[in-house]
Amino acid sequence: MRPEYYSEKIRALEAGLSKNGIEYEKDLPMSSCSTFRIGGPADIAVSPRTAEELALSVMLAKSAGLPFHVAGNGSNMLYDDEGFRGVLVQTQKLRGIGLDGCVLTAGCGASLMRVTRAAAAAGLSGFEFAYGIPGSVGGAVFMNAGAYGGQIADIFAGCSVLDSSDGTVRRLTPADMDFSYRHSVLAARRDLVLLEASFSLDAAGGTVGEITGRMHGLMERRIEKQPLDLPSAGSVFRRPAPDIYVGKLIEDSGLKGASAGGAAVSVKHAGFIVNTGGATSADVTELIKRIKERIASDHGVVLECEIRHLSPDGTEEPAG
Ligand SMILES: Cc1cc2nc3c(=O)[nH]c(=O)nc-3n(C[C@H](O)[C@H](O)[C@H](O)COP(=O)(O)OP(=O)(O)OC[C@H]3O[C@@H](n4cnc5c(N)ncnc54)[C@H](O)[C@@H]3O)c2cc1C
Repeated sequence: MRPEYYSEKIRALEAGLSKNGIEYEKDLPMSSCSTFRIGGPADIAVSPRTAEELALSVMLAKSAGLPFHVAGNGSNMLYDDEGFRGVLVQTQKLRGIGLDGCVLTAGCGASLMRVTRAAAAAGLSGFEFAYGIPGSVGGAVFMNAGAYGGQIADIFAGCSVLDSSDGTVRRLTPADMDFSYRHSVLAARRDLVLLEASFSLDAAGGTVGEITGRMHGLMERRIEKQPLDLPSAGSVFRRPAPDIYVGKLIEDSGLKGASAGGAAVSVKHAGFIVNTGGATSADVTELIKRIKERIASDHGVVLECEIRHLSPDGTEEPAG
């Protein structure tokens, strides 16, 4: 049972969403929106179709006094077993992709798979590194996602954001983004919601076949190294230094295959925790705690989590 004051907030939000024709559903299991396949129900999950609807959804949640969480593809998130007493703002429908010369612009919900394929099909190079990262444009900019020597910051040209502190929409330039390793201004300013982003690509980086060939080469490396057959949220920990490989430290500590409930350290890549079936968020956090303790005592290295945990009250922090 939810307290009456909370139910009133939900009713106020529902009235606002219905009045504006914005689609939503109640009690959506967040396991269905996370690559980990973990997470209890979100009280309200909205599915805006346009940037205007997305902005309005966020502002309606705020004026109803409810916390909101903007969800990309849920590939870097650990959703809580207890779910979320707030508004999950889903972005998948904002998936448009446009090209203007060498500049590709994509909605925040466009998947990196589609975006990188669109760039390649247009003969534009620079986005190959992101082929195979199972995230959205919003999540990728938020995280400054990167792989195989490339990162979003290298190609980022600008973005439009909703500033939910005052409801305005404005443009951010690369200089505004404060990009660093797996970090951007969006992580520091949670009131900013990315609506769309532009990327500056290279028309002289090879033929369509050469660009596609590079992408497929990187995908083969992922298939060879990563446990893509089991649900996960990718690398659990940030790299402590450019020359320190977390997977190797964990493997050297004999933790490959270590488990807590349904969560296990991948036997294929020890930097990943996989859901072997029925894992809970508590299982994952327990395993993270054990790994951190062992790596600190065996190697004197303090690990920091890359994956993020959403608490039922809407607080979002590194998962351990
Ligand atoms: C198998 C596997 C392999 C992976 N490989 C890599 C890799 O090589 N490199 C890498 O960097 N990552 C990798 N990841 C992690 C993950 O895919 C990336 O971090 C990705 O960029 C997250 O995007 P997402 O859309 O899933 O974001 P989510 O997990 O949904 O969200 C992550 C954060 O971004 C915020 N966010 C999402 N959209 C917006 C928006 N529109 N506005 C504001 N904030 C927003 C969320 O609120 C949340 O705080 C991997 C994950 C898996 C499962």
